Amino acid sequence: MNIVQLKKLSYEAVAKCNRCGFCLPNCPVYRVEGTESASPRGRNAITRAVIEGKLSLSADTEASIFSCLGCGACTKVCLSGVATKDLIFRDRECQVGEGLYPKIADRVARFLDAEHNITDDDNAERGEWRELIKDLPEQAFEKDHAEVIFFVGCVASFFPMAQKIPANMARIMQKGGVDFTILGGEEWCCGFPLIGAGMPDKMKALMEHNLEKVKVVGAQAIVFTCPSCYHTWKHVYHPDVELYHASQMLAWMIREGRIALGEIKATVTYHDPCDLGRNSGIFEEPREVIRAIPGIRFVELASNRQLSVCCGGGGNVEMVNPELSGKVAQMKLDEIAATGADMVVSACQQCLRTIATRARRQKIDLQVKDLTELVAEAMI
Ligand code: SF4
Ligand code: SF4
Repeated sequence: MNIVQLKKLSYEAVAKCNRCGFCLPNCPVYRVEGTESASPRGRNAITRAVIEGKLSLSADTEASIFSCLGCGACTKVCLSGVATKDLIFRDRECQVGEGLYPKIADRVARFLDAEHNITDDDNAERGEWRELIKDLPEQAFEKDHAEVIFFVGCVASFFPMAQKIPANMARIMQKGGVDFTILGGEEWCCGFPLIGAGMPDKMKALMEHNLEKVKVVGAQAIVFTCPSCYHTWKHVYHPDVELYHASQMLAWMIREGRIALGEIKATVTYHDPCDLGRNSGIFEEPREVIRAIPGIRFVELASNRQLSVCCGGGGNVEMVNPELSGKVAQMKLDEIAATGADMVVSACQQCLRTIATRARRQKIDLQVKDLTELVAEAMI
């Protein structure tokens, strides 16, 4: 994208920013960095100045535009309704058009092109997480036709810390009698990392492939444990089948009596993942699932639902600026500690990685679990 195209698409929207600053206390990056260029208002000012020809794209604009977590918290409090996250992601396309972007993104784009996953692993290994389940036959959970496709996503497929998420989800669906299949090596990355990288034009082949697989399987629904995959399918793919996040399916299985839950004694809080809560509107089902487990004392974080604070893992910031990502994760951990909870539950593999990694590095005694793990442990 070039600046002329940016002007056409973004000028009217960015001109609505009246610089009131209401968004500042809600931007996690501004809260840890404290500089105007790290704030939504500052990024909007940069966008506007670039469009008006008062500022050139540079390494400085790159640093500002690529330090946004894409969490969307700024927009929720903006009385002018400025969709800052969307404007910033469009800015990224422009930065890419000018060659001013974090070059680590090229590596991810190359991996996605060659192996169709973000880690450059052999894509045939996507079902490796099945090794976590005892005595499974080879190719388990892979069927030619099924009612539901379980779309696992790259992080849960290839990052060892997150592989228990699909293993638990598959066990729960099996117990609940859901007719599902995984796509194994035929699942390709949904393309979400390319949106954050400012390269959405490179998503086409991934999308076409995944949509074709849904047709071949003849599925009526797709279930996702990854909120970002869910969000991408819902807002970019628009397939002709129902889409569910795992938390919705878990809540349904509990309501229908398909799975029964035994007692867990713990004080639990819940972290709303940005792409599940604020960006997709799914707030209640994860809470319904947690509350359905006998013995749990549930406490809310001070900032919850629409005002949830990002874990630090969004917007490709962990890849581009791990130090900044870690500082935001610390802010999250401080908020969790203030609740007195001994366990934080989330419903996103990236939140799990970001929060658990920071807690481990800081030697914080906290259980960090995905909703699927909590349910699998409670299942009787
Ligand atoms: S983005 Fe919205 S809340 Fe933030 S400064 Fe602009 S108008 Fe105010
Ligand atoms: S999307 Fe999140 S990180 Fe980005 S400017 Fe808005 S509040 Fe800050």
